[in-house]
Amino acid sequence: MSKIIPESEDRWLAADRAHVWHPYSAIGADTPVFHVQSASGVRIRLADGRELIDGMASWWCAIHGYNHPVLNAALEQQLKSMAHVMFGGLTHRPAVELAELLLSVTPEPLQAVFFSDSGSVSVEVAMKMAIQYWQARGSNDKVRFVTLRHGYHGDTLGAMSVCDPVTGMHALFSGVLPQQLFIDAPGCAFGEPCTDADIEPLAGVLQAHAHELAALILEPVVQGAGGMRFYSADYLRRARELCERHDVLLIADEIATGFGRTGELFACDHAGIAPDIMCLGKSLTGGYMTLAATLTTAAIADTISQGAPGVFMHGPTFMANPLACATALASVQLLLDSPWQQRVQEIEAGLRRGLQPCAAFGHVRDVRALGAIGVVELDAPVDMKAVQRQFVDRGVWVRPFGRLVYLMPPFIIGDADLAALTQAVVSVVSDSTG
Ligand SMILES: *Cc1c(COP(=O)(O)O)cnc(C)c1O
Repeated sequence: MSKIIPESEDRWLAADRAHVWHPYSAIGADTPVFHVQSASGVRIRLADGRELIDGMASWWCAIHGYNHPVLNAALEQQLKSMAHVMFGGLTHRPAVELAELLLSVTPEPLQAVFFSDSGSVSVEVAMKMAIQYWQARGSNDKVRFVTLRHGYHGDTLGAMSVCDPVTGMHALFSGVLPQQLFIDAPGCAFGEPCTDADIEPLAGVLQAHAHELAALILEPVVQGAGGMRFYSADYLRRARELCERHDVLLIADEIATGFGRTGELFACDHAGIAPDIMCLGKSLTGGYMTLAATLTTAAIADTISQGAPGVFMHGPTFMANPLACATALASVQLLLDSPWQQRVQEIEAGLRRGLQPCAAFGHVRDVRALGAIGVVELDAPVDMKAVQRQFVDRGVWVRPFGRLVYLMPPFIIGDADLAALTQAVVSVVSDSTG
């Protein structure tokens, strides 16, 4: 009989450091990782008993907080009938009901759904859909993509090829990545009109390259991991018109922005536009399960399905996992049944008010908020190792990257917890002057 050896926390963390990769990490590095015991509501409880107020929603995902009774119940209920079944030749209620629900809340022209396991894969699927659509129409040259600098679309090779060349580390993978076209990110801020000068880089590229372009891919209104930039909805409107005029598809990557984060249910709603293809992920399941979806129009779905080879060429093993679909169904319904828009507006006001003191610091370049996203942009990258501990010591979970310290809390956060988050940011940023 094997013995259960009680092991020290130190040994356990050493094993993590020696053997387990974390996102964008090095094996053996001395950057701190914290052992999480459990999470509930907006609290993350560490193994040493400390509780942290969650300022990250686990990277846009946990919009309802952790350990939510409604989501738990949906997951447990689904588990009783089946955890998983292959999607080739078989179907099930959670997938079909989720598809119908997603189509009912997204822009009208979107009529077909492809489920996959992660945001990056949903972007690969979107890119393949665009290429296959043009192939089916006999336009075999339309295989490239145009995108915005400072964009982020995922870590797989196709998705990486449309990430910002610098933050996406194109130099490292230059021999492998398809060469896409990049234009400067919009200069017009959110709430501002988009001038002819603002749209000119996109107009120029479409004019010159439409014959070889399958699609424009962008994050609508909010560019997330590539810089946390908010830009004019008017730019999006004009981009939509230009794509139409030049016969180039528009792919909206709403993986970060979807499900209320920016103050509208989808960021495209700020501009009142419908993309040809839309990617959803992250908060789709309320952060419970890994699930993503690529939505497209009836015209594109039909063209692909009727052109050679007569099918769309993609089919993940775990496609439309029933546990994930059932949880997503419950999460989206929970969101729609809640006063989410009012709450997100209140969070925006709280973030704006709470982070404002940072604007007075000499090393702070900008302070901004949109929906449930608050950003403090510094002149220079933070010392992650030091700053991460300072946040934990102040009882909050905030994970900056580069020059950006930002908050994107669960929508259920209360005013006092939100104020505690912003106070911690002000205090840590104030101390980081050096
Ligand atoms: C996170 C993200 C992705 C990638 O999603 P993964 O689930 O991490 O693969 C793609 N696009 C955007 C806008 C994202 O924020």
